[in-house]
Amino acid sequence: MAQSSATALKIVVAGGHPGDPECGSAGTVARYTELGHKVVLLYLNRGEGFCGGAKLDRCADIRTAEARKACQILRARAAFADQYDGRAIVDASHYDAFARVLAAESPDVVFTQWPIDSHRDHRAVSMLTLDAWLKSGKAFALYYYEVAEDTTMFSPSDYVDISPVESRRRAACYAHVSQQPDKWYPKQVEITRSRGAESGYPQAEAFLRHRESKGALLP
Ligand SMILES: [Zn+2]
Repeated sequence: MAQSSATALKIVVAGGHPGDPECGSAGTVARYTELGHKVVLLYLNRGEGFCGGAKLDRCADIRTAEARKACQILRARAAFADQYDGRAIVDASHYDAFARVLAAESPDVVFTQWPIDSHRDHRAVSMLTLDAWLKSGKAFALYYYEVAEDTTMFSPSDYVDISPVESRRRAACYAHVSQQPDKWYPKQVEITRSRGAESGYPQAEAFLRHRESKGALLP
């Protein structure tokens, strides 16, 4: 099923923190990369605000390493937008900076967080992505993903069967050791099981396409 590089898509999954893109879309990322598409996980910050028992001044290094490990498992690449965990700034200069980072990737498809998630960094990355998309003239397809405990009022339009890649999806989430995956991974599995029940798969990740976005090839 591997596709030639001529048809390879460039996909960016933007998230508020290291671990968010993995939580909401690691199975889909694994399926994309198995098909020969290129995927970048773009983190708004390096998780400076929390890394379990370690001192805060070590968190950026610890969580950057965890993100890189997760990306290695998914055969994706890690990129960082260099904001600060818990202190996301959404203003004119940060809109421009984020748009430049996205434009440099020339994405065909971008997945981002849901704009009314509980965490303000998730809402920030969602606004920054939306603005970059509008600024680009809606040049790429735009989809939203959901994460356990943070996303509410989410009505998906598209489903991806992740049952063939469940073990890699789990490994990518558990690469974020400092985030104590036992606390949230089982809840995400409940979500993907129930999304699977809605779509006829054992487990599925669900997405919502922006209504004004072109459609994209989902794996
Ligand atoms: Zn987060």
